[in-house]
Amino acid sequence: MDMIKNSFARVTDWYKGVNRYIKTGAFLAVAVFCVVVALVGSGIGFGYSVKYNGQKIAVIEDKDIYWEAVKNVENKVSGDNIKKVLSSPEFSLTLTLLSSTQKDKNIISDGIIKNTKEIVNGVKATVNDKSYIFAVENKNDIVENYLSKYDVGSISSKSAFVGDVNFEDGLFLLSDTEKETTLNSLLDTVDVITVANVVSSKETDYNTIEVRTSELVKGTTQVKCEGAKGTNQVVEEVSFLNGVETGRVTLSEDVITKPVDRVVLVGTSANVQTAQNNTVAHNSGFIFPIWDAYKLGSPFGDGRAHKGYDILADKGTPIHVAKSGTVIRASWYGGYGNCVDVDHGNGIVTRYGHASEFCCRVGQTVSAGDVIAKVGTTGNSSGNHVHFEVIINGNRVDPAPYLNIN
Ligand SMILES: [Zn+2]
Repeated sequence: MDMIKNSFARVTDWYKGVNRYIKTGAFLAVAVFCVVVALVGSGIGFGYSVKYNGQKIAVIEDKDIYWEAVKNVENKVSGDNIKKVLSSPEFSLTLTLLSSTQKDKNIISDGIIKNTKEIVNGVKATVNDKSYIFAVENKNDIVENYLSKYDVGSISSKSAFVGDVNFEDGLFLLSDTEKETTLNSLLDTVDVITVANVVSSKETDYNTIEVRTSELVKGTTQVKCEGAKGTNQVVEEVSFLNGVETGRVTLSEDVITKPVDRVVLVGTSANVQTAQNNTVAHNSGFIFPIWDAYKLGSPFGDGRAHKGYDILADKGTPIHVAKSGTVIRASWYGGYGNCVDVDHGNGIVTRYGHASEFCCRVGQTVSAGDVIAKVGTTGNSSGNHVHFEVIINGNRVDPAPYLNIN
């Protein structure tokens, strides 16, 4: 009986133990359930931390987004062996705030690209249907670096490849790229045209002007003014093929400094004495006696031994005295008709013949330019004019140099 009783007691103990055990397990299960409910309620749940080539690149909720990112990388990167260069990811289960897991596959694919040494930024250069890949950051660098050697020192310079040349930026496999030195060799096979606007200075020649003068003997000359060359600024459009000039067109030409005329005096006098007299006459400061409309008539010493210079003008035109002086004649004087003589001192007298009327009287002091008479055709005259004489020490000389008539 005892044996049965003991056995029963053991069974009862076992049962009590098991029961306690079950009760404890149930309690734990309930506890875990409650924790999970609490975590889910607070947004925390299980996700995967993704390591790629040893670098943690994202925490994701669902592995599918990782494999979408891998497809994305395969599409972005040119190269047949892209699948071979991608490493396997390491996923590890982790508790995480689910709202903060990575949902953007592009960011995950960027992480994959960044951590794959075999993937590089590069440029695909296509020349005459053959393509080459270079590990250069962007195509503008390639074009600008290469073409810059054709720059011309100028206000603008543009170079471009001729023919079928194309550059394309992208992501490539390092194993597909060429050595960078071969890029220049490749581009050297392509023609380059350059068009530049070039500024330069250009000298402009001066003109030589000849001025006749009776102050110099015939056959002699004298430089009155040395000429000076001018400067123009020229803008030209210059074209080059592979750095060799092929043509230029002038776009504009502006005067910076004008040239200065070279002035040469050319002598007209018969001899040295005449030339010297003429120089004195030119410097004597005579005023031309007719200020209104006039024409030059017979000069001094024409075929009929003419001793004055005839100046034709309408009747009544004022006659101005050539220089200051004193009136010594204002009267009828034979063939001169109405005649005015003015004494200027130093043996110099001027005469005005054939006047229609007098505007002065003998003994009057006159200033250069005063009106002394009016044009007429009195005396031995065939038309209205003033017969002008210059008398020096009683000798009538050619008035032309005194009136600057050359
Ligand atoms: Zn005359």
